[in-house]
Amino acid sequence: MRKQLLLTPGPTPVPPEVSLAMAVPIIHHRTSEYRAIFEEVIKGLKYVFQTENDVFTFASSGTGAMESAVVNLLSPKDKVITVEGGKFGERWTEICKSYGIEPIVIEVPWGEAVEPEEIAQILEKNSQIKAVFTTLCETSTGVVNDVRRIAEITAKHKAVLVVDAISALASIELRTDAWGVDIVVAGSQKGLMLPPGLSFLSISPKAWELVKEAKSPRYYFDLKEAKKALEKIDTPFTPAVTLIIGLREALRLIQKEGLENIWERHALMAEATRKAMLALGLELFAKAPSDAVTAVKVPQGIDGENLVKLLRQKYGVSIAGGQAELKGKVFRIAHMGYITPEDILLTLSCLEIALNEMGFKTPLGKGVKVAEEIFSRG
Ligand SMILES: *Cc1c(COP(=O)(O)O)cnc(C)c1O
Repeated sequence: MRKQLLLTPGPTPVPPEVSLAMAVPIIHHRTSEYRAIFEEVIKGLKYVFQTENDVFTFASSGTGAMESAVVNLLSPKDKVITVEGGKFGERWTEICKSYGIEPIVIEVPWGEAVEPEEIAQILEKNSQIKAVFTTLCETSTGVVNDVRRIAEITAKHKAVLVVDAISALASIELRTDAWGVDIVVAGSQKGLMLPPGLSFLSISPKAWELVKEAKSPRYYFDLKEAKKALEKIDTPFTPAVTLIIGLREALRLIQKEGLENIWERHALMAEATRKAMLALGLELFAKAPSDAVTAVKVPQGIDGENLVKLLRQKYGVSIAGGQAELKGKVFRIAHMGYITPEDILLTLSCLEIALNEMGFKTPLGKGVKVAEEIFSRG
């Protein structure tokens, strides 16, 4: 079996400490032993979310927490704003429409960040808008949106701000309370360094007011039930016990490194990746690039899907291709979670070899050298 290096923007690699923590025999969840673990997890999550608000945990992929935000805040026919600058922004629109909620869609060209003033203008004209849905790191395009500025805008209106931070949490700067983000949703398999299977949602007092009147159907994802349970350090249904035990370990690692150091490490890896790509004569896809994932335009004459396949099959390096309309047109290198500068160097090195093999002639080592210089600085 060939050694595999995982640099996809979810799932991401899991540290051995976390895997080992999850290898213990299963325990029952209504025990003092489990409660102590969950209590530590709740505290750790508040730190990572940078919030004093409640943070809820679900046994689902990240999209579950997105759906929870929609159904707990809104009723059929409610008006909201969704920001579509990629595949994950589109998901907000799709979930809202599934529940009969009426989104005003801001269509942002893929590769660009939303202009916060556009949100402000729509909010000023429509006082009945209840929520603004956006994405911090739009993983499909590698773009980071200016959530801090957007939160300043929503703070002046009745509308609450809901942010998909599934790939951003524990990767790039996010200050839920200081910025005033009402709802943050996240998932386990990205910056949090866990396998897929958990999702999270934090909620502000302003957003709770909407929960009280929301009439969308909901059952598993009902936050009122979840809150009653959380007050007793519990969940309404069986938690994903093993993943919660792994999460405790991951949160300990995160607290040990410190969030700001983690953000800095991600910024350094992102800078090295971006500058290496430019040195190879490649173009970045994102005009406002995120420090969690780098999207790169596939050079002319190269099949992007084949490049990703060659890297995985021959060199054991998994990066991601493009999604939806970007299929074959971009490749994406994740630098989030347990991914390290050494992983980036190896990936850049194999990428240079693979590009040459496919006919894109570039001097070997040119991108790696740039990255090495950046890492030597730190
Ligand atoms: C990965 C990702 C999702 C989807 O999460 P699932 O866990 O696949 O449901 C949603 N939004 C963003 C920004 C993501 O990166």
